[in-house]
Amino acid sequence: AEAGADTVLEGLNAAQREAVLTGSSHNLVLAGAGTGKTTTIVARLRHQLRQGVSPERLLAITFTRRAAAEIRSRVQAEIGVGGAQEGVAAMTFHGWAMRHVRNNPDVFGYEGWSVLDAEDQAQVMRGVVGRGKRVEGLKADQIVDVLSFARNTRITLAEAIRVKHPDQTIDAKAVGAIVRAFEERKRERQYLNYDDILMIFAERLKDPAVAAWVGSHYEEILVDEMQDTNPLQWLLIDPLVPHTRFYCVGDDAQSIYGFRGADFASIHSFRDRVPGARVLKLEDNYRSTQEILDLSNWLLDQSPLGYDKHLRAVRGSGAKPELHSFETPQDEAGWIAAEMMRARDDGQPWATHLILVRSNYSGRAIEARLVENDIPYVFYGGVKLLESAHVRDVLSALRVVSNPDDEIAWMRLLTLLPRVGDRTAARVFDDVLDARGAGLSAREARERALKGLPGWLAAGLDAIEEASARVDDAVGRAASMLTPVLAHKYRNDNWDARSRDLSHVERLAASRPSISAFIEEYLLSPVFTSELSQDRSDGDHVIVSTVHSAKGLERDWAFCAGVSAGAYPSARSLGDVDSIEEERRVLYVALTRARDRLIVTRTFAHTPVRAWVSTSAGLGFVEDAYFLGALPEALVREEVHTAARLPKPVSPPGAGVGGPREIDLGVDLGDLE
Ligand code: ATP
Ligand code: MG
Repeated sequence: AEAGADTVLEGLNAAQREAVLTGSSHNLVLAGAGTGKTTTIVARLRHQLRQGVSPERLLAITFTRRAAAEIRSRVQAEIGVGGAQEGVAAMTFHGWAMRHVRNNPDVFGYEGWSVLDAEDQAQVMRGVVGRGKRVEGLKADQIVDVLSFARNTRITLAEAIRVKHPDQTIDAKAVGAIVRAFEERKRERQYLNYDDILMIFAERLKDPAVAAWVGSHYEEILVDEMQDTNPLQWLLIDPLVPHTRFYCVGDDAQSIYGFRGADFASIHSFRDRVPGARVLKLEDNYRSTQEILDLSNWLLDQSPLGYDKHLRAVRGSGAKPELHSFETPQDEAGWIAAEMMRARDDGQPWATHLILVRSNYSGRAIEARLVENDIPYVFYGGVKLLESAHVRDVLSALRVVSNPDDEIAWMRLLTLLPRVGDRTAARVFDDVLDARGAGLSAREARERALKGLPGWLAAGLDAIEEASARVDDAVGRAASMLTPVLAHKYRNDNWDARSRDLSHVERLAASRPSISAFIEEYLLSPVFTSELSQDRSDGDHVIVSTVHSAKGLERDWAFCAGVSAGAYPSARSLGDVDSIEEERRVLYVALTRARDRLIVTRTFAHTPVRAWVSTSAGLGFVEDAYFLGALPEALVREEVHTAARLPKPVSPPGAGVGGPREIDLGVDLGDLE
């Protein structure tokens, strides 16, 4: 590893080398799946380190915590020798913005604020809207959603309402008034949501002096999965263009975050937004066999959007992709499990498998089968650790210590106590606010307000405050203070697993600088509960992932499950061209994850009965086959796994009335229709 630049470039093809060595200040590598975009980012980072750039002057922005960790470790392997302690910073847009906002209260002006996740926000909004009430037909969480869409897309609230709820007539002014009250409430309580963090950063970057100062931290900022960057995130990039270099990589055909405001076409305007940028292309796919790419290419060719892409396999030819059809999701999940177990018996590790699902919900049937068969797995896209109920409970105790005005945390903590309801909790919180208003310290305010409640609570909060210099100690104390109450609350609901999660939280908190920094870090770039089940994630395991969480992943075998109309494309997107095209890209991302064996599975059960039609070839699918409908036979090997059992026919008209009918064995079934 001590050779010169050669080792960094070793194994790269000419186009990749060119992309690593480019001397232009700003670059965009625009290339299809599996062509080595992420590989190139890693090589570019390593190359610059070799050139003597110090690691803290490089920043890699990725889509997930996992992708960030992956890049860090691949780069670290390089500089480990050099002994750089910190390594290269790799994080998400949110993590990056938060780091600046948190570390520089004098520049940004936010200290001691709490970060709200989606559920907390909905709760604040419910407080504004009124419990169980709607505004213009919208529920609290729908208003939160529309607001976030407007902010990420940089459109007005009225426009966002039209996009998200096209079939309703909604008075945007009425919703606007609620939104203003919501923002007011957040300010009072010192709450920030995810969008605020980006907004605060973006707003300050409008000041050229601040932009120059932030830009001066970095020699180069590298962005992976650029196609999913939304207009709000672009606001963090634009002002920095004159002050640092940008190196972005992406694939328009993999843009799948439209619901968060990303526009697949925005990457094409890169050169307009970043003057002087050079655009580089990579054409050879190193991941998959040609048969897998033929199917993926075909899918894009069917699109009216004309993706300029034709993936070519360096690896050459392999097995045809498979298309398996089942009657029910249970059958489908059972077959997938059986297929993996069969391979396992032949000595194939669990880690060769990736199962891609469309949503958390659709992953459940598969998860259940894996549990049933004792197959170790990790679910990317399942419950987020810090957003699960029991962890929230414990965090509420930490939050009231770090932000005494945090109403949501107080309410959650207090209502855990036996015989304390919303009314009592609200009274206690008002007492806290009064005492704070009268100038008492957080601790004094707490003591006064908690009079009349169990003494262990006040004592426990004091202990957390005392321990808060070491965040894992503070977490440990909060957990042990609440254990008896939680063990009761969750007694019939997986308490063992939940208490294991609490130890994971303690472990994650170790070495974090403050309670709020810890909570923010894991809210902004979440870990999933199943990622932490030690015995599973450390060892050989299958990955189940939503397509949205599978960016950049690859495995020898990829099962794309539930590829039926209603899921791909989702029922909601039918009838809207943009949404359908986004769904096509989702399927494209899924198909391009496989190295050797691509297994597409689908079921009848999602689909309307009329999907069952009689064709000359026998029973077949119509709507079911939405994207795969016109699929040329030569591209896949098809297998239908129906038992003799077919879906129950609808009762024929008149059956069961008017007494027994004559049985005519000679009748042609077709005549009954
Ligand atoms: P995606 O669009 O899915 O994110 P990508 O363009 O980022 O894909 P990579 O993940 O970097 O592609 O690379 C895909 C696979 O090809 C990886 O296994 C990588 O190690 C391998 N690969 C990339 N370039 C080369 C090369 N020049 N020689 C051999 N293997 C390569
Ligand atoms: Mg990649």
